[in-house]
Amino acid sequence: MARANAAYYARHDPFADFTTAPEISQVFGEIIGLWAAVTWELLARPRPVLLAEAGPGRGTLMADALRAIGQTAPSFRAALSVHFIETSPRLAAAQAASVPEANWHDSLETLPNEPTLLIANEFLDALPIRQFVRRAGEWTERYVQNDRFTELPCGREARISPSPCGRGPGGGGGRAETRPPPAREELFELRESAQTFAGSLGARLAAQPGAALFLDYGPTESTSGDSLQAIRDGRPTDPLAEPGTADLTAHVDFAAFAAAARAAGAAAHGPIPQGIFLTRLGLFQRTDQLARNQHPAEALALIDAANRLAEPNRMGRLFKALALCHPACPTPPGFES
Ligand code: SAH
Repeated sequence: MARANAAYYARHDPFADFTTAPEISQVFGEIIGLWAAVTWELLARPRPVLLAEAGPGRGTLMADALRAIGQTAPSFRAALSVHFIETSPRLAAAQAASVPEANWHDSLETLPNEPTLLIANEFLDALPIRQFVRRAGEWTERYVQNDRFTELPCGREARISPSPCGRGPGGGGGRAETRPPPAREELFELRESAQTFAGSLGARLAAQPGAALFLDYGPTESTSGDSLQAIRDGRPTDPLAEPGTADLTAHVDFAAFAAAARAAGAAAHGPIPQGIFLTRLGLFQRTDQLARNQHPAEALALIDAANRLAEPNRMGRLFKALALCHPACPTPPGFES
């Protein structure tokens, strides 16, 4: 599973296959930039401060955020340095064109040890997951082998710990054989990369002033079952066909992610629906302001873009906003109950 998405991002322009919020409306990045500026004030204006983004795509969100910060929060603009966490050289090149001042990192671990405001849109859903399947009491794990997905028995190829092979749901390993086989296949997903990221970020936010904002899609509570999806040319496709040719995503388990960050010492706020978050922070006021200076067709397109981000039956409900903070930080903007 891990190799499939690394191969996809290295070889493809993902934005030919799907559109993300910052590519839909400039107001998305502007609002997130202002969220970072206000949160920096709440943290008592630490300086210097890192404005970091994980999985920045084309750099559009950061470019919009920096423009808005420059216009409305000059002291934050003067105090910050921009850092991108990105593994795709292809996308890093696009990011350099949008945000030449950025500094690049392969992971969170190499960010300088300074107060940090981190933002991430559709980053967690792109991290690899592991899928385990149980049929007739036997667990297998899904792998990419010779450019195809395949299932290998637990314990042979699989270097698995912890996993259902050893002690996951329903037992597993030797113990599973003593139970009656399930009527149909069972599926279990492990999100080790996201959980590790939450733990490292939580420890960083506990140790010094800072906050992080994640926008991504997934349910509020943890659920079980298969959440793997693939998009090619803007349309859903079979996630287990032709690995590396379609963008693979999995629902984010926000409850487990927040719990791992809390266990490392950070405070968590949300998740709340993206539509509520963006509306509270002025999505429609800012869109109206932009629309006023446009020809009618462009004004309508701007308003439709805002509706697409916020309406519950479009991106407003399934997408969620989650904030992680230093424990002494007051509730960040948008998360007041
Ligand atoms: N945030 C952007 C792009 C989302 S696509 C937007 O909203 O438009 C996912 C992004 O995460 C891509 O930039 C991809 O290259 C990056 N990515 C995927 N796996 C990663 C990893 N393990 N570490 C860092 N970046 C990763």
